[in-house]
Amino acid sequence: MSTDDAHDETTDQLVFQNPVSRYPVVEAPKQDQPEPGLDAGLEPKTDRGQHSYRGTGRLKGRRALITGADSGIGAAVAIALAREGADVALNYLPDEEEDAQWVKGQIEDAGRKVVLLPGDLTERSFCEQLPDRAADELGGLDLLINNAGKQIAQDSIEDISDEQFTDTFTVNIIAMFRITKSALKHMPAGSTIVNSTSIQAYSPSPTLLDYASTKAAINNFTKGLAQQLAPKGIRVNAVAPGPIWTPLQVSDGQPKEKLPQFGQNTPLGRAGQPTELAPAYVFLSSPESSYVVGETLNVNGGRPTP
Ligand code: NAD
Ligand code: MG
Repeated sequence: MSTDDAHDETTDQLVFQNPVSRYPVVEAPKQDQPEPGLDAGLEPKTDRGQHSYRGTGRLKGRRALITGADSGIGAAVAIALAREGADVALNYLPDEEEDAQWVKGQIEDAGRKVVLLPGDLTERSFCEQLPDRAADELGGLDLLINNAGKQIAQDSIEDISDEQFTDTFTVNIIAMFRITKSALKHMPAGSTIVNSTSIQAYSPSPTLLDYASTKAAINNFTKGLAQQLAPKGIRVNAVAPGPIWTPLQVSDGQPKEKLPQFGQNTPLGRAGQPTELAPAYVFLSSPESSYVVGETLNVNGGRPTP
């Protein structure tokens, strides 16, 4: 272990490795960040694949747009897509520029083109224009990762403001609708869409009433849209993470008292690292998964799913 990163010392270890001990148990110190949280301020740091992800050219020449691409799972997916040969447009909030610059550097190191498209997904016109701008700058668009998410824990429904409830739905599912709808005109047969859902879709925490409801909606949206677009040669799938150590969790995504044990109630006994999600997104985006349509791939440390 280096002092600043949670990463494997040698990539060779990935060939044969105990998933229980691949990473240390996250025992997070008390911390709080304003929303949106930054990877730059997270303790302990995460593995976004910067030292370990090895590409094999599976997405060579693809042109990708990722939302929430600056940090956490989105950052790990951006790094993986670039190392698999894709050019990548990154969307994130303007306040997350520091994290986005780090991801940009990783993509440039992989020798791929990177386009930065900061902006707020609660704005309808921004969502509608985002795929057009990505396609314009990348010379096309054939890979969409709808990954941005808002998660604010509240003990009681009476503590959830109307604004929080509405914003969570706007970022998590309404923006997904708007971006996907606008992206389709650019996407030829062979294109893929992967949506970030959650184990919360079918195993909701009582503190995440609004968030968990949006994830159930995302699952349903994914399965419906997948059937609509399959005949056109566009595949839609979802990835359902379990507890993953990201800035989302320390910017009020979890009740503060739960942070030190975060992820320890999984069969693997630890929280996941963002890079452990990346292969699922790569698989669902690559032509290798050509017969996988409307699927939800669970990456959750072993929790049973429906
Ligand atoms: P993260 O905080 O690193 O990423 C979430 C991103 O969403 C932010 O970086 C931000 O750029 C984006 N976002 C939020 N509000 C936005 C807005 N108004 N406009 C534009 N962008 C906005 O956290 P993460 O855990 O990597 O989350 C990525 C996805 O994974 C989310 O959809 C989340 O719901 C999902 N997920 C995470 C976990 C987990 O345990 N971390 C579990 C299940 C699902
Ligand atoms: Mg972020």
